[in-house]
Amino acid sequence: MSEGALLVSSTHVPLPDPPAMMVRLCDHLKEHAEVAHEGETARVTSFYGSATVAADDAGLSFQVESSSVSHLFVMKSVISEHLHSFSDGETLAFTWTGDGETGSTIPYFREMMVLGSQPLTPRMQRVILKGDAAFYDAESFHIRVLVPPRGRRPVWPWAAPDGRTMWPKGEDELLARVYTVRSVDLARGEIALDVVVHDGAPGSDWATSAEPGSVVGILGPGGGGMPPAADHMVLAGDETALPAIARMLEMLPEGQRASVRLEVADAAEAEAHRLTVPAGVDLEWLSRDGAPAGSTDLLETAIRGLDWDALPKHTQVWCACEQATARKIRRFLDKERGFARTERVSVAYWRIGATTTLAD
Ligand SMILES: Cc1cc2nc3c(=O)[nH]c(=O)nc-3n(C[C@H](O)[C@H](O)[C@H](O)COP(=O)(O)OP(=O)(O)OC[C@H]3O[C@@H](n4cnc5c(N)ncnc54)[C@H](O)[C@@H]3O)c2cc1C
Repeated sequence: MSEGALLVSSTHVPLPDPPAMMVRLCDHLKEHAEVAHEGETARVTSFYGSATVAADDAGLSFQVESSSVSHLFVMKSVISEHLHSFSDGETLAFTWTGDGETGSTIPYFREMMVLGSQPLTPRMQRVILKGDAAFYDAESFHIRVLVPPRGRRPVWPWAAPDGRTMWPKGEDELLARVYTVRSVDLARGEIALDVVVHDGAPGSDWATSAEPGSVVGILGPGGGGMPPAADHMVLAGDETALPAIARMLEMLPEGQRASVRLEVADAAEAEAHRLTVPAGVDLEWLSRDGAPAGSTDLLETAIRGLDWDALPKHTQVWCACEQATARKIRRFLDKERGFARTERVSVAYWRIGATTTLAD
């Protein structure tokens, strides 16, 4: 997403109980952003920009600031989605004014064409998409792939005047799944996605059967990306995190020391991935020996087993995997190793037994 001069947009949202909504909204946003209270106003700062929130007798006023049109849209959309979900059935009517007014277009939406799909390893499928590849040559790695129903002309999501993303329903409903942009080929205008094959699931089935010439919609890139610089990095995850970690390994500064722990189905899978491992990186594959994904404690044990006392004080940890494991690792880092929120990421990329929904 392009950097530029600061963009500003504002709105006033009429509400029956503005102070109560302000408390509810700010309490929730604290989980995702820094929230500082200054008298009657609150200032919310996140990766995407900042927002000033002020209550008056009739409602809440918002002024959001961001350095790109896409990030400005994310700020407006997050505020709007939360206000609507906290409104307890009350109808809210408001529109944003200022920068970033693009009608009903979502600035980080692109249509891409499937160029091909083939197995990368026995359990990973590589899908190549063609289109505005330069848009994905960004510090954020993650995208939401939108697959239209077979045989129907796609109806893509659009932006409501209040900033929410509106989704087609019924026969036009889209399959939406989050993946990592594994690589970007600017010369060819292509991006590659590496998708874990686990039969009978819609995203996995799309990847293995994606037909050349078919179109998908892409929302993003957003979130994620290379962890901040540190004396040492710990990069860990299961195969869903492999595309992100492989990309991070390619981006590591020369001489960067890192411990990498990757859980895969079996030894053959580890062999087939042929990762390039830079000097200074200690990579260990953790084989489930055929046990189902998400059913072992391999990753947690491997992370606990690192020689933490010997690692530099300034160590940054990045981990992504099944939800329960991600939680256990986060708890270990925070409670047993005293990591601050800014020093570690341990996130859920999928959940055992749960089909992805648009709310994910
Ligand atoms: C930021 C982010 C980046 C991601 N990047 C990638 C990526 O680059 N490549 C990738 O493959 N995935 C990636 N994922 C994970 C992917 O979005 C999920 O695995 C998603 O559930 C796949 O959708 P599906 O339709 O295949 O399965 P769903 O319909 O979501 O789930 C159906 C069933 O499959 C199970 N399931 C889901 N994922 C897996 C899995 N990996 N292994 C075994 N069982 C599973 C579920 O528990 C459920 O029982 C990423 C997720 C996030 C949040």
